[in-house]
Amino acid sequence: MIVDYHMHLRNERKEIAHDTQSVEPFVEAARDAGVDEIGFTEHGYYFTQLRTLWSVPYQTKRCVYDLDAYVDAVLQARERSLPVKLALEVDYVPGREDETRALLEPYPWDYLLGSVHFIDGLGIDCAPRLADAVGVEEMWRRYFEMLARAALSGLFDSLSHPDLAKVFGDRVEFDYTEISDAIADSGVAVEVSTAGLRKPVGELYPHPDFLAECRERGVPVTTGSDAHLPELVGRDFDRSRDLLRSAGYETVTVFDRRQARQEPLG
Ligand SMILES: [Zn+2]
Ligand SMILES: [Zn+2]
Repeated sequence: MIVDYHMHLRNERKEIAHDTQSVEPFVEAARDAGVDEIGFTEHGYYFTQLRTLWSVPYQTKRCVYDLDAYVDAVLQARERSLPVKLALEVDYVPGREDETRALLEPYPWDYLLGSVHFIDGLGIDCAPRLADAVGVEEMWRRYFEMLARAALSGLFDSLSHPDLAKVFGDRVEFDYTEISDAIADSGVAVEVSTAGLRKPVGELYPHPDFLAECRERGVPVTTGSDAHLPELVGRDFDRSRDLLRSAGYETVTVFDRRQARQEPLG
């Protein structure tokens, strides 16, 4: 089975559009790319219903959309038997776990992706950057510390682009033992994402050594393109499949209403 579990709903003018018409081109693109099922994972910070969680200007500026409209658009597509899942990419906000859980609770999510894009108000993949404030090594340390907390929060089903800190090519020699232990203890999956191939780093997320540590500990995986356009659905999935197979993975995680099951990797 081939699933693309990370994409952002946009209309043909590339604008944010949480409506059923905009779902269709993504479904068609998935069919053309040989993808069996897709999951929409809009950023949580776009939605006014979650407004109290967001404090970074990047998030609060964008927080003007209606979560109910988004949920309805995806659910309507599913009622028409389209192979779509209802999900969200949620920034982890440390110390606000209970509030995050309560705000997300009313909706029938198939799964939730947990992301770390900001730490202490500074960006990992956007300016103003944490790396500029504290240096590359300290940025990596804080990034993985926050990702471990996100994993252990129990809020999420899979961790998006789990080594996002490399996005601009900032590298350190890294021992992935500690972060992989935390992820394995938490039971959360990790996402293998092709988005990094389209970024300055030019690599899949996560690094092969990181993925190998996850595999050794029995951590399940999801797959995603992080498409913001229909034509990016399933993009470079031959590369993610090769990476998964070389790490020893034979299955991918599929979710229904937050129940996970393993399907053979397509
Ligand atoms: Zn993201
Ligand atoms: Zn995303």
